Amino acid sequence: MAKNFEIAVFEGDGIGPEIMEPTVALLCDLAQASGAYDFTFLKLPAGAAHYAKTGESLPAASLASAQSADAILLSAMGLPHVRYPDGTEISPQIDLRKAFNLFAGVRPVRVSEGGLTPLKMAAGRSIDFVLIRESTEGLFYTQGKGEVTHDEARETLRITRDVSELLFAFAFNLAAERKHQGRGSGRVTCVDKANVFRAFAFFREIFDAEAAKHPDLKADHAYVDATALWMVQKPWDFDVLVTENMFGDILSDLGAGLMGGLGLAPSADIGLKNAVFQPCHGSAPDIAGQGKANPFAMILSAAMMLDWLGTKHGVSAMNTDAQRLRTAVDAQVARRADVTPDLGGTATTAQAAAAIGDALLTQT
Ligand code: ATP
Ligand code: MG
Repeated sequence: MAKNFEIAVFEGDGIGPEIMEPTVALLCDLAQASGAYDFTFLKLPAGAAHYAKTGESLPAASLASAQSADAILLSAMGLPHVRYPDGTEISPQIDLRKAFNLFAGVRPVRVSEGGLTPLKMAAGRSIDFVLIRESTEGLFYTQGKGEVTHDEARETLRITRDVSELLFAFAFNLAAERKHQGRGSGRVTCVDKANVFRAFAFFREIFDAEAAKHPDLKADHAYVDATALWMVQKPWDFDVLVTENMFGDILSDLGAGLMGGLGLAPSADIGLKNAVFQPCHGSAPDIAGQGKANPFAMILSAAMMLDWLGTKHGVSAMNTDAQRLRTAVDAQVARRADVTPDLGGTATTAQAAAAIGDALLTQT
C-alpha cells in the first residue's frame, strides 16, 4: 500500500502559481510511477494578492491546515506594491517560520559537472554542500527592536542552548544521511567567530558536545571570514556547514552566487515537526504571466521535500526519486537545452518542466 502524504501548497504571488503547477504535476507522476507513496495536495490561500482582496495575508485556516499537513510546499509570496499599513512587505513565509519554530534554514549549494557557476571548475569536479542557517535567533534576535538613541545603536546577538542543541543535532543527522546516500563525506563544520565573541565560543562548545555523540562523523570549526574565502577557493571541500542566523544569511547568498543564480537555488525551513520547502527566489513580478519563469528552483525544493519525507518516514523510494529529479535538472542545465531565458535558453516554464518529466521516463 502506498503511504499517503498530505502536502499543504501555497501557490503564492507573481510567478508562484506558474512554477508550482508543473512541480506538483511532476510529483504526481513520480508518486504514481513509484507506487510506494502518494500525495494529497491541499491548496491554501495566502500571500500579497490574497491580502489585497481580503485584508488577510495568512488566514488562520490556512495556518492550521499547514500545521497539520505532512509538509508545506511554497512557491513565492509578496508583491512590491502590496504592503501592510506600516509599509512592510507581505511575507507569510516568515510568519510560518515563526509560528512553527522552523529553526533550521537549509540551503544546498550544488554545481554538477557542466553546471552554471562563475567559478572555474576542473573537469570532473562538482560542488555539493549544505549550509544550515539557524533561523530564529542569533543576530536577528532584536530585528526591528534594537535600541537606538541619538548617539548609539545596539542590537543583541542571542544564542540559546536549546535552539543550538536542536540545530547541531539536525546538522549531524543531515551529514549522516548524506553520507549514507553517498553524497557527502560525513563532515560537519561549525562556522562562527569564536575568537572574538563569547557567544560564539558558547555556540562552539554546544557544537563540540553534539559532535562527541557522533564518532562516526567528522566535525571541525571555521571562522566565518575564512569560510567566505574557502567557499570561493575550494567549495568542493565542504559537506555540511552550520552557522548562526546573520552569517547564514550572508553565506547563503554567496552560495546562490556559486550556483549561477537564483533560478537554481532551493531551500527548506525545518523545525521539529513542520517543514516548508520553497525556492530562494521571490515572486519575480517583472516576468509573471509571460511563461519565462524558471521552474528548477521550485522543482529542486520539491526534491528536498521528497528527501525529508522519505528519510523521516522510511520510504526510501522518495529519496531515490529526489535524486532522480536532481539528476534530470543537472543534465538539462549541463546541456543548456530546454532551459528558460535566465539560464540562456528559450524554453517556456512549461517546456522546461515537461522536459524534466520526459527525462524521468527515460532515466536508467
Ligand atoms: P524577494 O524580495 O521576494 O526575495 P526579490 O525582490 O529579491 O524578491 P525576485 O523576485 O527573486 O527578487 O527577483 C529578482 C530577479 O530575479 C528578477 O529580475 C526576477 O525576474 C528574477 N527571477 C527570480 N526568480 C526567477 C525565476 N524562477 N525564473 C526567472 N527569473 C527569476
Ligand atoms: Mg525583494
